[in-house]
Amino acid sequence: MLAYQISVGNELLIGDTVNTNMTWIGQQLTRLGIRTGKAMTVPDDLGSILAALDESMAAAELTILTGGLGPTHDDLTKDALIRFFGVELTRHEPTLTRIRRMFFQRGIPFTVSNEAQADVPTNCTVLDNHHGTAPGMWFEREGRLLVVLPGVPREMKGLMLDAVAPRLEALVGASAIVTRYFQISGIGESTLSDLVIGNLDESLGRDLELAYLPHSHGITLRLTSHAGETEALARVAAHIRTRAAQYIHCETPETELEQTLVDLAIAKGLRLATAESCTGGWVSNLITNVPGSSAMFVGGVVAYENAVKRWMLDVPDSVLLEHGAVSREVALIMAKSVAAKLGADIGLSTTGIAGPTGGTDEKPVGLVWIGFWSKDAHFAVQARFFRDRVLNKERSAKVALEIARRQILGIHGLPYDLKAESA
Ligand code: ATP
Ligand code: MG
Repeated sequence: MLAYQISVGNELLIGDTVNTNMTWIGQQLTRLGIRTGKAMTVPDDLGSILAALDESMAAAELTILTGGLGPTHDDLTKDALIRFFGVELTRHEPTLTRIRRMFFQRGIPFTVSNEAQADVPTNCTVLDNHHGTAPGMWFEREGRLLVVLPGVPREMKGLMLDAVAPRLEALVGASAIVTRYFQISGIGESTLSDLVIGNLDESLGRDLELAYLPHSHGITLRLTSHAGETEALARVAAHIRTRAAQYIHCETPETELEQTLVDLAIAKGLRLATAESCTGGWVSNLITNVPGSSAMFVGGVVAYENAVKRWMLDVPDSVLLEHGAVSREVALIMAKSVAAKLGADIGLSTTGIAGPTGGTDEKPVGLVWIGFWSKDAHFAVQARFFRDRVLNKERSAKVALEIARRQILGIHGLPYDLKAESA
């Protein structure tokens, strides 16, 4: 099935609002095995909405339109619909009752313009909106479908999941699209491609597709079969697992590295503490974003000024003087001290030059030392990142997490081929 999308709203065109509905609906349609051929964004203007409807209903078997259903004068979608179909509006009593009850429960006065929200074109099937006022609408004409949903993302999603997706699923049958995700950490895109692709090329084609989705802190490999659970899908997935084993931290669609690390540490009964200088608490922040992290995260010290490194983490003055705060020696001591002082099994530390200023020839911006301590290993690694301050903090934090993941699993070798340096 081929689908078009229409997003209605001036705010989307002038850049006030990001069109998140479009991407989200695109994902849902893909999941259902429905191909999106085009997405149009049009202003709150009758002629523009009508022109988009004309084009879409002529070209696509399914059109999904969002926005412009509200009670105010700039909401013109329903006007466009009655003109497009040549029908009238009719009051949908169950919707009116539902909206009245909603206003009553919230203690908001009910006005005439709210009543108009229960008016729908005579030729539509009403889709109950359990998350807001304006109902969704389902139209069929000459074998073509038009689904109209409110613009508010929460309401749109509710209706899509409750009412639209199940109907579409029934129409298109079980999807032949099967997807595998590999969350990759600690390797660059081109190195990964060399490692994984190898003799894979001939296996990939129309029915099997491999996509690299890099983000600021890793890569998602997405393997999609358009022909269901095939032998080729299983073979290629197994190939990726073998070749990239040490880099795959999990195989679920949206899992972040910190989630994997938290799960892993809990499973092994290990507790972790952080001593952060250049990352300013970013490592602790990532870890504590994960629900349940209290079972493995003890706490951390943001040791920014040298005095804090000295007082709270016992970094001797002599070491700071001789090697400087951004050094292997300091990273080593920070990791060990924080674990000892906070009674953790693992200590992770960062110290570096985040930039954009403060670099020297010997210690340029982007130079970061990451320290690791556990009863089995004590080392620091030197990484070179970028000129961008926030990116440096983010990367340092992610590499620190990846180092911890590898140590816990006993993986030989470090992310991005970094070298471990001991005392
Ligand atoms: P309601 O019935 O609640 O008034 P509506 O159908 O009239 O909804 P709009 O008035 O167009 O929807 O938009 C409501 C809100 O939803 C606005 O804050 C708008 O910015 C947001 N919104 C509309 N369309 C989109 C979109 N495509 N992506 C993200 N947000 C959107
Ligand atoms: Mg609008």
